Amino acid sequence: MEKKQFQAESQRLLEMMVNSIYSQKEIFLREIISNASDAIDKIYYQALTDDQMTFNQDDYYIRIEPDQENRTLTIKDTGIGMTREELETNLGTIAKSGSLDFKNQVEMEDGQEIIGQFGVGFYSSFMVADKVTVYTRALHHEEGYKWESNGQDGYTIEPIDREEVGTEIIIQLKENTEDENYDEFLEEQRLTSIIKKYSDFIRYPIKMDVTEQ
Ligand code: ADP
Ligand code: MG
Repeated sequence: MEKKQFQAESQRLLEMMVNSIYSQKEIFLREIISNASDAIDKIYYQALTDDQMTFNQDDYYIRIEPDQENRTLTIKDTGIGMTREELETNLGTIAKSGSLDFKNQVEMEDGQEIIGQFGVGFYSSFMVADKVTVYTRALHHEEGYKWESNGQDGYTIEPIDREEVGTEIIIQLKENTEDENYDEFLEEQRLTSIIKKYSDFIRYPIKMDVTEQ
């Protein structure tokens, strides 16, 4: 297992996220789903154009799994996945993401409410998470990887066995406090309404098991 520090810019953005008092924390789900959708776009296109790959429409979807007992929210996609290098460059830095604009803007305006206007990106998950774990395997790669971080002191990467190509992001929700209740992100109805509100345009099915009422 390898332990690494975030780049300085990332570290600052992360601190903002971890300590965020921004009220619309729900937008983290929009960001994670939009990344999942981008990743499916990439594999979908390859599958359509590469005769070596079989194409089956039903193979492309996003699954949301709340776990009340462990207080985790898992977002799984059948997208293109990430190699070890991609994990490091894409989740370890913010250079190529809209997140940097966001950070500069917030520092300039000193306003929390501005956050919603930006593609805040993957790090927004740390508004609600104590720990984020990513399991992934890239298309045409044999080895999978686990990436994990508490958003504060770096991240770890280690190889794992993983059968499927794609990515699974497990958000360990923060402990509830007097002011903040994170359990709402485990409630089916709440999740459904967040998805309707922000991710209605997503082209792939977003699946979630719902308890019959
Ligand atoms: P942006 O989407 O603006 O590039 P993000 O912070 O949301 O910035 O994501 C950073 C990068 O991490 C993405 O560009 C992508 O390369 C990678 N990434 C994030 N989530 C996934 C995923 N589910 N599957 C594959 N790659 C991902
Ligand atoms: Mg994104």
